[in-house]
Amino acid sequence: MSFISRSSIFVRRATLLIGSIIGCVMIVMTVTIIKVADESNKTAARQQMHRLAVAVESELTKAQIELAMVASGHPAKFGIFGGNAGQEPFSENLEAAWTYFNFDEIYALDGRNGVVTGSSRGAPAGTLTFASIRPHVAHLVARVAHNRVSSEHHGQHRLLSPEFEKVHGASGLIQVRGGLALAAVVPFNPAQPWADDKQVLVAARMLDAAKIADLGRRHGLDNVRFQHQSAGDSTFAIPVTGAGETRIGHLAWDHFRPGSDMLPNLLLIVLTSVITIAIAFGVLFERLRRLGREMTKEEEKSNLLASHDHLSGLLNRRTFHERFAAELERCRRGHAGMALHMIDLDRFKDINDSLGHQAGDEVIRQVAQRISNVVRGADIVARLGGDEFAVVQVDTETTLEATALAERLREALTRPIMFGDSEMSVGASIGIALGPVGELDTEGMLKLADSALYEAKSGGRNRHRFFEHDGSSTNRMKQLVEEELRDAINNDHLELHYQPQVSADGLRILGVEALVRWRHPIRGLIPPLDFIALAEQRGLIVPLSKWVLKRACLDGRRWSGIKVAVNVSAAQFKQSGFVRDLIETVEATGFDLSRLELELTEGMIVEDEDKAERAISELREQGVSLALDDFGTGYSSLIYLRRFSFDKIKIDRSFLEAMETTGESAILLHSVVHLGRALGLSVCAEGIETQEQHRFLQAVGCHELQGYFFSRPVLASEIDDMLARAVPFPKAA
Ligand code: C2E
Ligand code: CA
Ligand code: CA
Repeated sequence: MSFISRSSIFVRRATLLIGSIIGCVMIVMTVTIIKVADESNKTAARQQMHRLAVAVESELTKAQIELAMVASGHPAKFGIFGGNAGQEPFSENLEAAWTYFNFDEIYALDGRNGVVTGSSRGAPAGTLTFASIRPHVAHLVARVAHNRVSSEHHGQHRLLSPEFEKVHGASGLIQVRGGLALAAVVPFNPAQPWADDKQVLVAARMLDAAKIADLGRRHGLDNVRFQHQSAGDSTFAIPVTGAGETRIGHLAWDHFRPGSDMLPNLLLIVLTSVITIAIAFGVLFERLRRLGREMTKEEEKSNLLASHDHLSGLLNRRTFHERFAAELERCRRGHAGMALHMIDLDRFKDINDSLGHQAGDEVIRQVAQRISNVVRGADIVARLGGDEFAVVQVDTETTLEATALAERLREALTRPIMFGDSEMSVGASIGIALGPVGELDTEGMLKLADSALYEAKSGGRNRHRFFEHDGSSTNRMKQLVEEELRDAINNDHLELHYQPQVSADGLRILGVEALVRWRHPIRGLIPPLDFIALAEQRGLIVPLSKWVLKRACLDGRRWSGIKVAVNVSAAQFKQSGFVRDLIETVEATGFDLSRLELELTEGMIVEDEDKAERAISELREQGVSLALDDFGTGYSSLIYLRRFSFDKIKIDRSFLEAMETTGESAILLHSVVHLGRALGLSVCAEGIETQEQHRFLQAVGCHELQGYFFSRPVLASEIDDMLARAVPFPKAA
């Protein structure tokens, strides 16, 4: 994975992580704040309820005390009444209860709860008016009358000063005529003549809405009100119970909710801090990302330098191998195909030599550009070194597709390149290998394409060639040894052996056939059949044949009077200038052309008869003799024998092999020899291995014999020895 994606993934992940942490913190904080606000609302409500309860309680206590003052005549002590309570008529006290203490109604009850006297808003009142409040105060009266009023019922007695504590009484909220009222009941002064021990004073003070609200206000509560029905949150409301503990309603108020008031502010603070933190992280990440990007760029730059060729800007050899290997792997997995194009510039060396390195560099740059323009984006383009380029054409199955690209490449590279005033024309040869080929790796594939390239070049340059593979493993093996063979030719690791061609009586050596071998450092001596075909395919036959011809002529110079036969391969024979090159080479060694014999096969002639005829007549003009090799295996056409003036036919070894098993072959052999003789040709039989074969062929009239019976192919020094002996093959004599 590249650094870019690594760093961007890191940043993305980190952002996600931090983002979710911030989100979680925000949710937790919000929930906590809401919870705290709610709690503080509840606490405040509890405190407010307590306050209201205290207010009501103190109001009740106050009423109780005031009523007690009325009862005991205490108001007189404070100058409210005219004189001593005992001396003044009590009705005045009752009036004062309205005037001074604002009790709407007040009644003195005897021991049997009968109204003794009473006053309603200062006016005398009696049993009739008391009747409307009697049921509501009965429970209070009962408690006081039976002296059961205790501190347990109303805990607010602490408000009383010690002086009043001994005064017993009861008070409570009651419902009178649909409204709320404060009721107080105290024991009445027993000193009065009409009183008995059970006398009580009952008073009620109406609490209208304004008074209730005022009471609340004085204790810092808003809109305190009496409600029959519960409205809204009744958890925090003071229940009002009447006679028999029946609930008659409750006191409610507008709750002061500090939590709710605080909530928006707190949330704002949370939001602000979260945004601030997020921005801080954002900035930090942006910095990090930028840093990452810069590092990436640096890394990319250094990667580019390491993976690309600096002159052409294309991939270098190392990176090419990596990409190519990956592509091969991809193809194998996906059963897809690709084409490897090896491109070699035809005249790069000339340009470099004549116009200098700068021109050469310019050519490389231009060529790289042109190749890049011609290929598709996914194709892999590399400069492998010097003037050698490679293109991996991906997703390519057919030679048709590959040919199309090769044509485009050649066309692009043939167009002239300008350098200063000079116009250069390079041209290119292209070798193509379609792949993948079995398990062949990049090196192997390159070798295939390279051998195709070699063929393209030896085929006359500025063309493309496909590597023809039949898929056989031996072929691939051959491919891999091709380079070694080239080295062997260049470094004289080939050996030339000679096999004598003997007169029919077996007594004289008439000629020798030069047969090549390859002395391989590891595999030992390799026979020609294992590498001649390979050399032909890979375009190595020309240098190889040249080597053989030169060696044979150099050796043959000292064997005066005998012919030196050299095998010619089909590929070599096809080369234009074959005869000229051959004559040149022979003449360069000083070997006498008339002692040279070339062994050709019918296959060579069939391909282009006219051309073969011309070549043969040219050779004959130079005095070179011609032998038709392997006669009997191919067309064995009399027409060829007549039209092309051969000097000799060489009957293939297979005739002798077959003669051992069937009598027919002997007759055939007989007639072939006769045919040759009739045409005036010299007849040579190959593959004589036994005395019997020797005798037979001598008998049927063969002119020359060749085979292991006389000698295996041997080094030139052994031929020297044989020629020096009077009887070269003692066992044949
Ligand atoms: P060829 O031209 O028919 O060569 C004769 C082959 O028969 C040689 O095999 C030789 O060793 C073998 N031979 C000779 N006498 C006997 C025998 O009594 N019994 C058996 N079993 N074999 C015998 P070699 O050297 O392996 O060459 C094989 C072929 O390779 C040759 O067939 C020739 O076509 C080709 N070749 C060899 N040297 C050259 C060369 O320098 N240039 C070219 N173009 N082809 C060559
Ligand atoms: Ca031969
Ligand atoms: Ca032969």
